[in-house]
Amino acid sequence: MINLVLFGKPGAGKGTQAAFLKATFNLVHISTGDLFRYNIKNKTALGQKAQSFMDKGDLVPDRVTIEMLEAEVDRNPEVKGFIFDGFPRTKAQAQALDVFIEAKNMKINATIALEANDDILVKRLLERGETSGRSDDQDESKIRNRFDEYKLKTAPLKDYYEGQHKFHSVNGIGSINEITERLTNLIVSLN
Ligand code: ADP
Repeated sequence: MINLVLFGKPGAGKGTQAAFLKATFNLVHISTGDLFRYNIKNKTALGQKAQSFMDKGDLVPDRVTIEMLEAEVDRNPEVKGFIFDGFPRTKAQAQALDVFIEAKNMKINATIALEANDDILVKRLLERGETSGRSDDQDESKIRNRFDEYKLKTAPLKDYYEGQHKFHSVNGIGSINEITERLTNLIVSLN
């Protein structure tokens, strides 16, 4: 089994790359952002809890997010592994994930950060907003707020995973294919 955390700022390309990696390594891709958007679209109770936070570009509270993530893992028994995309985003989420996954005799093999600078990311997100319909991608102040949330709450996870010797960095600037290749080479070298 191989379990990967894809790490990086909004717009770094986590979702795009996860789609390729799940096919190559036969993994289940869990994106907390996609799960929240699905719940909002279907007007579930969970969606209602998440919506006001997401609309502002704030993180959804840990308890709500952790419960959703754990339910999604439990819905997928007997798999070759998971790609966690957009989770964990806080230290509390990372600690909860470690406890949860160890109780299942599983482990996180690697946390892989896709690195790109803010100006490129803002440009990518505004472009995505033109076609995706995502309101959090259409307003530069919401995008900047997501970056602030990232710096404050998510960036410290680098130290958390470096402490576990699991942190890897990949250059997230280049063509989609080039970046997929960088990630694939790294994952193959993990074994
Ligand atoms: P991006 O990485 O481009 O910001 P996502 O689709 O991963 O896009 O996330 C969109 C929004 O969903 C976040 O701004 C946040 O409100 C919410 N969200 C996603 N994952 C988490 C998480 N692990 N913890 C809290 N909120 C989350």
